[in-house]
Amino acid sequence: MTRFDSLFQQGLQKLAEQGRLRTQRSLDSSGDNFIRSDGTVLADFSSNDYLGLRRHPLLLQRAAEWGARYGAGSGASRLVSGTCSGALRLEQRLATLKGMEAACIFSSGWQANATLVPALVRLCVTATGAQPVILADKLIHASLYQGCAAAGIVPIRFRHNDLKHLATLLEKHADAAGMKIVLTESVFSMDGDRADLAALGNVCRAHNAFLCVDEAHATGILGHNGKGLSDGHADMVIGTFSKALGTMGAFVCSSSAVCQWLRTSGSGYIYSTAPSPMVLGAADAALDLLTEPETEEVRCKVAALSERLRQHVAAAGLETGPSSTQIVPVVVGREQTALRLAQLMEEAGFLTVAIRPPTVPPGACRLRIVIHGNHTEPQIDALAHCLVTAWKSMQ
Ligand code: PMP
Repeated sequence: MTRFDSLFQQGLQKLAEQGRLRTQRSLDSSGDNFIRSDGTVLADFSSNDYLGLRRHPLLLQRAAEWGARYGAGSGASRLVSGTCSGALRLEQRLATLKGMEAACIFSSGWQANATLVPALVRLCVTATGAQPVILADKLIHASLYQGCAAAGIVPIRFRHNDLKHLATLLEKHADAAGMKIVLTESVFSMDGDRADLAALGNVCRAHNAFLCVDEAHATGILGHNGKGLSDGHADMVIGTFSKALGTMGAFVCSSSAVCQWLRTSGSGYIYSTAPSPMVLGAADAALDLLTEPETEEVRCKVAALSERLRQHVAAAGLETGPSSTQIVPVVVGREQTALRLAQLMEEAGFLTVAIRPPTVPPGACRLRIVIHGNHTEPQIDALAHCLVTAWKSMQ
């Protein structure tokens, strides 16, 4: 107990009254299933392990090899003595994947995003003497907002994927003394839709704005050999190891100069112990797999299964929004509705988690259904059937 527990209890009570209390439970993974603590097996339609790599023998083997060679931990931050030769080789491979000059590895996507925004702001102030103007797609991930907050900047939000709105705002700030920085994602995590990065790149070039794209949900699963969708359109690209690459951690790719600035000025890079070599080994193995013909087949399969699910769901009159990727949200509106639907799905053996505010706007609660390479057509049909039956039973 601490002397402050009653205060914390009050806070928790307030959140509970607002229905905002968050909980967690134990779910052990077993193949492409989860095992609940009571032994119930649930098919995984929830995790971001899109390619089903986190149990791949090559990842497990490479993690063990890098552990044996470099240690279970890196022992220090990157600039002290935590840069093993494997990390440098991996960064070069990641830069090549994204068609850019250089890359910096971080321990998580959150850490990368929360670090890079303040580092860009610092660059702008150092080089130009003025604060940048940050323009952010309304639906960017919380970690990029965290980066803005850490830098003391309130981003100007443009309507989701609305390039006209962005162009108008850039025009309005044409005479800004500092840089203009645009933050977006190539695949949006809660809607599964994509940004038009070619058009966005053109808008940013026309207005001399620095384009930063988070490819957490595209890396490994979309684009040629899983390189994502940024394809030379962005000035900075973030990828994560934590989704399709089956492990944890993240990387930021850009020019050598930008990455050198991040290494010199990114607090989350400088003041944090470098990621475990075992994790980096697993990521290295995942990169090997991305270019395998079988992995391309898996990517195609995931795309086809996702479309199959969208069609089933739409035929039943349910809403999947603008999804065009492996993330298929079934938007049902109210919080209680989403929770009840998730519960009925779980009773039928499917783990499809309800997403609620503040992760999504009030009234846009949903089941975020995620398709994996290990899923099958009969499984998708069974999931859709169950979803529609459960939905009808609730009307
Ligand atoms: N960016 C996006 C778009 C995300 O969805 C997430 C988390 N799911 C992150 C960054 C954070 O990545 P990580 O989980 O590796 O911290």
